[in-house]
Amino acid sequence: MSNNEKIPFLDLVSLHEELEAELVPVFQKVLRTASFVGGPMVEDFEREFAAFCDAKYCVGLASGTDAVRFALMAAGVQPGDVVITVAHTFIATTEGISQAGARPDFVDIDERTYCMDPVKLKEYIERECYVDRETGTPYHRKLRAPVTAIVPVHIYGQMADMDPIMELARRYNLIVVEDACQAHGAEYFSKKENRWMKAGSMGHAGAFSFYPGKNLGACGEAGAATTNSEDIARKMRMLRDHGQSKKYYHDIEGYNGRLDSLQAGILSVKLRHLADWNRKRQEVAGRYHELFSDAKGVTLPHEPESSRAVYHLYVVRVRDREGLQKHLGEAKIDTGIHYPVPLHMQKAYANYGYKFGDFPVTERIAAEIVSLPMFPQLTEKQQRGVVENVKEFASKEIGKRDAVREPQTSSV
Ligand SMILES: *Cc1c(COP(=O)(O)O)cnc(C)c1O
Repeated sequence: MSNNEKIPFLDLVSLHEELEAELVPVFQKVLRTASFVGGPMVEDFEREFAAFCDAKYCVGLASGTDAVRFALMAAGVQPGDVVITVAHTFIATTEGISQAGARPDFVDIDERTYCMDPVKLKEYIERECYVDRETGTPYHRKLRAPVTAIVPVHIYGQMADMDPIMELARRYNLIVVEDACQAHGAEYFSKKENRWMKAGSMGHAGAFSFYPGKNLGACGEAGAATTNSEDIARKMRMLRDHGQSKKYYHDIEGYNGRLDSLQAGILSVKLRHLADWNRKRQEVAGRYHELFSDAKGVTLPHEPESSRAVYHLYVVRVRDREGLQKHLGEAKIDTGIHYPVPLHMQKAYANYGYKFGDFPVTERIAAEIVSLPMFPQLTEKQQRGVVENVKEFASKEIGKRDAVREPQTSSV
């Protein structure tokens, strides 16, 4: 199908045009009070975001990476510990782990949700570790180090299966930090608690990024960590501010990881729209689902009963991913790949000695995923354009495959 209007992957320009009248006064207020770091705007946003996440505390930070790092450190991860996560995520997850002084290690993902597979997590702890009798802590046999934390990632805005993860964490005394950097407002139905729970409210802490393209994005760099523990919140506040317990009294050596007042003020404005934007993303996802219902050769996102995803991304799987991207590109439809190279195959981690084949589900899906345009303002017309072009490509592919198979089928 020829399509003359470009369909962007994400449209941050129109979004900010719509919000300009609400945002400009925030800039003015910050200029006129010269309150640039900390202060009431940060505190207000922290209170509002904690409430949004059904968490007791929120600590505003400079980035999502800092959120993962400070949450792990504040919850008790020590240098040299092993922290389990997934290889199917953005590298910031493992950067946060490494920057906390720990060694990241991986378990494979669930083939349908693309989130941590709790069965693989259980196998990891039971097969690769022995449990120290005195402390009850699992020790990794080969890495010769204690395993002390789990970082499940709610990838694409879809919830990881938290009940079994929390159950294992309780049994083995492990810290859980949810990487909710793509999942602001996503919900999980906990059978154990018998209620819907927000991303970032289930683990010991939750890490959020407000990088501009996220469901809730700042006009620059920003992040936050949520927790229900007063102690973890207090430690994170110290870590973000040079280890100060009060001005110029440094109980520990910390970091410069604070949230700017300007970003906090902007985030407060945008937070008022977040529920509506998430609802629109869910509608866009629902419409994709309908429009794709008769499509062959395209695997759609799977949302289990226990998950209310917020569709940071809408990711489909096809056999010829490069071909599809090229086809859509020719129709001026932007796409992305999140992410093409699993973390265990990244050059940055070559020294850890992972090899292809270590995490087969992760590897399989990394070769087949394509992220289609997804943002709250995406119109039905634009979506129809995307879907028609994907279907056109997929049916040609199936035609090609059938043509190859034909001689075999006719000889049977
Ligand atoms: C964006 C993101 C982060 C980190 O965010 P920054 O704010 O860029 O540091 C961490 N984890 C995941 C899964 C992300 O998508």
